[in-house]
This record gives sequence, structure tokens and C-alpha cells, in this order.
Amino acid sequence: MKLPNRLLKATKTIWSKIDPFSLQVRLTVGIATFSAMGLSGVAIWTSWKMQQILVTSQKQNIEFLANRFPHDVEIYSDMVSIETGIQRAINNLTTDKIILWVRNPNQLIIAQSHQLQVDRSSHLLTSQMEPNPQLYKLRERYWVACGASLQVKGKILGKVYIAKDITSEQIMFLSLIKTLGIASLLSIAIITIIIAIYIQKSLKPLRRISAIAKTISANDLGAARLDLERVPSEVKELAQTFETMLLRLSDAWEMQRQFVSNFSHELRTPLTIVSGYLQSTLRRGKNLTPQQQEALSIAISETDRTIQLLQDLLDLARADNGRMHFNIESIILNDLLSEIVGMAVQYSNRVITMKATADIIAAKADRDRLKQVLLNLIDNAVKYSESDQPVIVKLDQQNEQVKIEICDRGRGIPLAQQSRIFERFYRVDENRAKSIGGTGLGLSIVKTLIEGMSGSVTVRSQPEKGSTFTVTLPLAQI
Ligand code: ADP
Repeated sequence: MKLPNRLLKATKTIWSKIDPFSLQVRLTVGIATFSAMGLSGVAIWTSWKMQQILVTSQKQNIEFLANRFPHDVEIYSDMVSIETGIQRAINNLTTDKIILWVRNPNQLIIAQSHQLQVDRSSHLLTSQMEPNPQLYKLRERYWVACGASLQVKGKILGKVYIAKDITSEQIMFLSLIKTLGIASLLSIAIITIIIAIYIQKSLKPLRRISAIAKTISANDLGAARLDLERVPSEVKELAQTFETMLLRLSDAWEMQRQFVSNFSHELRTPLTIVSGYLQSTLRRGKNLTPQQQEALSIAISETDRTIQLLQDLLDLARADNGRMHFNIESIILNDLLSEIVGMAVQYSNRVITMKATADIIAAKADRDRLKQVLLNLIDNAVKYSESDQPVIVKLDQQNEQVKIEICDRGRGIPLAQQSRIFERFYRVDENRAKSIGGTGLGLSIVKTLIEGMSGSVTVRSQPEKGSTFTVTLPLAQI
């Protein structure tokens, strides 16, 4: 890649990283703008003052010559004729830079500096020249000039014109201004960079608070510590307030967990009894009308669904409190999976096939919890696909891991929602899901249980094509 292209790409990357609404950018831009305004003001004022000093001193010089000239002529004219006296006075005052000429009242030149006989361009100034010295620009040259009336011994002889070439001083002054401008721009750039670095450093503690806050999960709310050393007192105060808020949140979270756990526990027992009574009433009630039977069936299924929901909540509350114990052992998965598939075929009345890559594949897991996980995933595969579509359970072994895949050809899950389905109570299509049943807690329990067994669960899915849930567990050597 060529250098300008690379530079352009690097600039684009830096630019895309800049957030115009961030405190850092706002403070930098604000302070840099004020510094730029201050520096530019100083530079402009300095230039104006320097120009004033330069031009004023030259004007005073010309004014002095204009006042002196009639006296010189008067002195010379005592010795020679008045015309010769004027010429001598001109010769006396003429230098490399100062030129003079005198016009009589008829505008005829009666005497002039010798340079003017060669270069007559300065005469062009005549019409503009005023009695008080002024700065003029003529053909890229700068002049301070004046045209004052020439009166000797009470007689008006015409007008004396005095012009001083200050081009070299002016050029020097302009280059000085240029240097001052460049120095100001450089200072502004350096100040901006220093301010940006300083602000970035000052905001570091805030970024640390934000980074720490991102890593805090519901389970370590109470244990989270910000530990910020040598930070400004305002940030320290913020960190302390934040820690106090986390502690309060932790207490509230703990109370909520306790409540859910107690509530689920207390409700589950009476509901189980209610379900039992309803079932026996339905079984024994010989003279029930079909409507009464249907009503009892609905009551049973709703009670069972509520019991399941309470059981799920209890499981999650136990996991949150760290009270969920796993009885980890080596399990031959080929056998366990055949048993689970057999059970699932019975209750779902679906074609569920199992494919294993080896005769014996064993994993380290809790038998009952793993059963619960796989039944849950197979149940979902059955629920979210058409009844004529098969469900496939695959068993594979990779390096130190065991992989169990539950594949269906159902409705699938949109990509944006795939990361959310493991959240509690999250359901992709709430309205459709309601008609299917379920609580929205199944997958979050699956994830909690699998992670409790040092495994992981992931999903690959395509809408209207199907989903594959993959459970990975540590391999066991037999
Ligand atoms: P639910 O009780 O609603 O099944 P889950 O936690 O088991 O709750 O699943 C959460 C959501 O994920 C479901 O509501 C469903 O939308 C989606 N889902 C889970 N498994 C599948 C699957 N195999 N195919 C399509 N969608 C699924």
C-alpha cells in the first residue's frame, strides 16, 4: 500500500474512534478553542503594535525633515540663489532611501534628488501625498511620504515632497508576522495535543470505573471493589457512591432471590397436592360430563405448568445462591443418550434418532442434571418443529471434550435473538410461544446446569431451516 493511502486509512481509523459527544473531545475542543483565541488575539495585537511603532517612527522622521527643509533652504539661499539653495538642501537630505523633490505653484519640478532623474516612478505619488506623512504602497514598494508647502522668508515657493522607502523594513516586518503566525499555529497545535493527553489521563479513573462496572455480574455485586488509588477527590467520591449503590443493589438482589426461593418452595407443595387431587377426581369421577372432564384436564395441565415453573425458579434460585450441588461422575453417554431418546420418543410420539461416532464416549457430569438438560433441549426441538420433522441427537468426541448436538428442522431462531434465548423468561415470539406452552426458563436452567458441570452450551440456527444446540462437556477416560 502506498504511503498516502496508509496515512489516509490511519487518519480514517483515528477519526472513526473519536466520539464527538465524549467529555474528552468536548473539553479538548473547548480549551483548545479558548487557547487559540487567546494566542491569536495576542499575535494580532503584537503585529498591529509593531506596525504602529515602525510606521510612527518613520512618519516622525519624515515630519522632522519636512520641518527642517525650509530652514536649510533659507540658510543656503543667504549664500547662493534660491534655486541652487533648494537643490543643495535636497542634496543634503537625500540618502539611499530618502528622496525629495520640489514643485513650484505651476506644478513644475524645480529641484529633485539625483535618483529621481533615473527613476521617476516616485513622482506618481505626488497626487496622493498629503501634508501629514502617510504610508503608501507603489509597485510592490512601501513609502512613508508627505507633501508640505515650502515657504522661505515669507514667500511661498511651491511644495516640497519627501518620500522614504521603507520596503526592506516592511518586508522584514511581514516576515516577522509570518513567523509569529506559524509559531502561534504550532503553539496552538502543541497546546491542543498536550491538553488532549492531559484530559485523557485525567479521565482514566472514570474509564476504569466504567470497565470495572461492565465486569460486575449480579452474583458479585456485593464483593465488587473499585480500589482507585491516587485519583481526584471528586472521582473518589463517585467511586464510593458507586460502591455503596452496589452494596444496596446486592442486598436488594439477595432479598429478591430469597423471596423467589421461599415463594417457589412454599407454593410448590400445596400445588402438587392440588394437582394430585384433580388427577384422582378426573380418574375416579365416573359420572362427570365431558365439559367437566375437559375443565379438570385444563386445570391439571395449568397446575402442572405452574409447578414446573416453580421448580425451575427454585432451581435457578439455588444456583444463584451457590446451593446447587453436582454429583460429578464418569458417565457413558452412549447408554444415557439411548435411554433419554427412548423416553423422549415415548412422551413426544416423534421420530428421534441418535448418531454416535464411537461405541463408548464418556463424560464427567452429573447424571440427573445432564438428563434434565438433554430432555429440556429435546423437548424444545420437538415443540418448535412440525410433527413430521425428525429430531437428531448426535454424540461426538473432540480432543478433551464431548460434544452432544440436538438438531431439529423447525422454525429456527433469528440471529439477533440467538444470544438472548439463554436469558431468564426470554421467548422469541411471545404470542406463538404462549400457545406452545413452556415458561421461558428452560434454556437459562440448561445453561446454569451445564456451566455448573464445567461445560458450555451454544446454538446455531437459521430461521425456517432449523436449530442445533451443542452441549460440550469434559471428556472422561475409561
Ligand atoms: P420455553 O419454555 O419458552 O421453551 P426456553 O428457555 O426453553 O423457554 O426457550 C426460550 C425461547 O427460545 C423459546 O421461547 C423459543 O422461542 C426459543 N427456542 C428454544 N429452543 C428452540 C428451538 N429448538 N427452535 C426454535 N426456537 C427455540
